[in-house]
Amino acid sequence: MVKQEYIDQLVGVQGYIVVALHFGEGKKSGDKELVIEIERVEDRCRCRCGREFDTYYDKSLRMVRDLPYGPYKRSWLCFMQARVDCPECGVVTEQLSFRDPWATHTKRLAAEVALSCREVRSIKAIAEQYSLNWKTVKEIDKKALIQELPSPADTPARLLAVDEFSIKKRQCSRWRK
Ligand SMILES: [Zn+2]
Repeated sequence: MVKQEYIDQLVGVQGYIVVALHFGEGKKSGDKELVIEIERVEDRCRCRCGREFDTYYDKSLRMVRDLPYGPYKRSWLCFMQARVDCPECGVVTEQLSFRDPWATHTKRLAAEVALSCREVRSIKAIAEQYSLNWKTVKEIDKKALIQELPSPADTPARLLAVDEFSIKKRQCSRWRK
């Protein structure tokens, strides 16, 4: 049996513990899906102005998309989010460290997506994202490019030429350190 603290460390939302994991599969996509139920350790809610409260106005269940976990491409954090009755701000949604107000995803997922959206990504950036060395990323990229190439035996020459051209283009832009 895996210790609770290890699961909490893996999910890594500060101030929260994991209370349940639900494994499933997307009906349309067939992708593996994971819902992680988390619960706050301390019952303290923070207002956007910085004030902290022991009590709350009301609470509602939220589900926001999170990072992929291994084969689980689609995952959600599921938690209760409170509204506080602040003397300064009125009744407002509490501030959470891992989610921007109204966002349908976690901050850390947004950070990864933003990184991937760079038009031309260098090997160095990808290596940093996955904490791999430059050589490894280059090898992975090279292997993937070779596998993408259709076999010359059953491919019209014209198509092959196009593929070679696109590979050369990708090499130029991506294999820049
Ligand atoms: Zn406030």
